[in-house]
Amino acid sequence: MAISRSNDLNRIRELLQRRRRDILHASAGAHRELTALKDQERDPEYEENAQSELADYTLSSLMESQRREVMLIDAALRRMEMGVFGDCVDCGFEIPIERLEALPFAIRCEEDASIHEIETRGGHMAMPSL
Ligand SMILES: [Zn+2]
Repeated sequence: MAISRSNDLNRIRELLQRRRRDILHASAGAHRELTALKDQERDPEYEENAQSELADYTLSSLMESQRREVMLIDAALRRMEMGVFGDCVDCGFEIPIERLEALPFAIRCEEDASIHEIETRGGHMAMPSL
């Protein structure tokens, strides 16, 4: 592997690790805020109970998307450890670094990704993407 590419991959790894820390940090913060909001509602003077239900809902969908992103980051980091990160799972060629920088979770080159998308859509009803 060319040195410049492995440097680029290292940079992406650092970005992913930082992003992972930020997500975990943010979700811990959101959790504390919700707990504080709930404590506030135990106060009988405080009448707007619906607020924490809404916050609860927002938090759980936020946590869901954060959890999913952490999973994708972990999968990408695992692929880096195995030395296959940045290789297309279909054709085996290296995915251009520009694509990986824009889409660090990409496991296919652009061409195979569009073929895969058409195959997934055709025939079966695809799950609506969120
Ligand atoms: Zn490919």
